[in-house]
Amino acid sequence: MEELEISDKLIIDDHISAWKACLLKIKENVSMMTYNTWFLPIKPVELNNLSLKVQIPSQFFWEWIDEHFNALINKSITEVLGNEAKLTYIIAEDKSSTEDKEGLITNNLSLSTPIEKPKPKHSFESNLNTRYTFDNFIKGEGNQLARAAAGAISDNPGGTSFNPLFLYGGVGLGKTHLIQAIGNQIVNNFPEKKVIYLSSDIFTVEFVESIQSNKVNEFSNFYRSMDVLIIDDIQFLIGKEKTQDLFFHIFNTLHQSRKQIILSSDKPPKDLKGLDERLISRFQWGLTADIQPPELETRIAILKRKAETYGMVVSNEILEYIANNITSNIRELEGCLIKLLASVSLNSKEITFELAKKTVKEIATDRKTNNINIETITKVVCEHLGVAENKIRDKTRKKEIVLARQLAMFLSKELTLSSLKTIGLHFGGRDHSTVIHACNAIDSYKTKDVSFGRIIEEIRDKIEFSS
Ligand code: ADP
Ligand code: MG
Repeated sequence: MEELEISDKLIIDDHISAWKACLLKIKENVSMMTYNTWFLPIKPVELNNLSLKVQIPSQFFWEWIDEHFNALINKSITEVLGNEAKLTYIIAEDKSSTEDKEGLITNNLSLSTPIEKPKPKHSFESNLNTRYTFDNFIKGEGNQLARAAAGAISDNPGGTSFNPLFLYGGVGLGKTHLIQAIGNQIVNNFPEKKVIYLSSDIFTVEFVESIQSNKVNEFSNFYRSMDVLIIDDIQFLIGKEKTQDLFFHIFNTLHQSRKQIILSSDKPPKDLKGLDERLISRFQWGLTADIQPPELETRIAILKRKAETYGMVVSNEILEYIANNITSNIRELEGCLIKLLASVSLNSKEITFELAKKTVKEIATDRKTNNINIETITKVVCEHLGVAENKIRDKTRKKEIVLARQLAMFLSKELTLSSLKTIGLHFGGRDHSTVIHACNAIDSYKTKDVSFGRIIEEIRDKIEFSS
């Protein structure tokens, strides 16, 4: 025992073993796929006192890891190196060395600085993600009108005839990107303007909360006070009549006072069956623009740009192969590059044609499992634990309900791309720290109780099966 402790200490004396020890802890908490994609490519660089420095393949990688696994990484590093431990990141990125032979990812290190959000000018969160800009939005035939209208609105919000701007199109074609880019651009151009972005399901959740807490007026006034209201995926208002009714009034107030309204949807207004006719007709007052799947040239251009952003070197032949085989969804194009990035940084291999082929095939298989959403997760968790689904948003401290809620939060974090904020909102408007707390709690139950770990696996299987 004694010896083991000593050797334990010895083991974590250098960066390689320290990171190895962290990886062991991380591995217990994530799926194999997640582990391989996001953790194996991270390379330990040095251990200085209690500060472990690791190298991350790209800025994008860092942002992803930070958003999705921050709590987990912190926890494992503290467990390995103690409370004083610190993890610092280095990003391996050097766009100039495209000639580097092996260098799919090059070694010129630069210290990454945590991205600091600019101080908010207003007392509310705009919810805009600064990653979405016009700059990194590639123009193509399929998005020409939408892009042009978006630009015009950003220069003159509320002052063009494009009010509302109604964007529609299939999954992963850039609707969210474009409408958030408008928001970001307006914030830049007109810092005093109040801009808010949210999806219509979050809007609904907040509305329901406001009813429960007797704050409907406050809720409604808040949105009426905006200069720019951006609502994503408006089709989720279908079937929610009370929310539609309130939204109708907010829409009218904003439109009358020439405030900009921007909406996105998976179909054109007239096809939104089940949506109030008054809303459908208003949605057509301004400009309705569709986004079509990108043609081959645009797909190649998008891949080229993304590869560059991730600091990857990929031959044109391979980019064309990917562009020829992933045709209807830009998110999948992006996903394909990320997978390639993960496998080459893992084995420091070159991106070969075979690897690209294999990855494209995996993406097609993934397509099936990518439909997991928070609703499905909640439903399966509640069923499995025998808790009524409508209780999960309540303020109750009943043990079994708290557990179900925490588990559903934990799995939402693991299995969906939703942010902590979104997850919190889905579970009765709780804030992101509650979600982190839930994830940590589940983590620790798992470690203490093996059978609980098994239950989680069962639930996870069920979720994947029902999606
Ligand atoms: P949607 O909301 O239509 O489902 P998103 O806006 O989420 O799609 O886009 C999916 C991914 O593809 C995002 O990461 C986005 O940045 C990227 N993307 C979409 N269109 C473009 C484009 N024209 N240029 C560059 N990236 C794009
Ligand atoms: Mg979207």
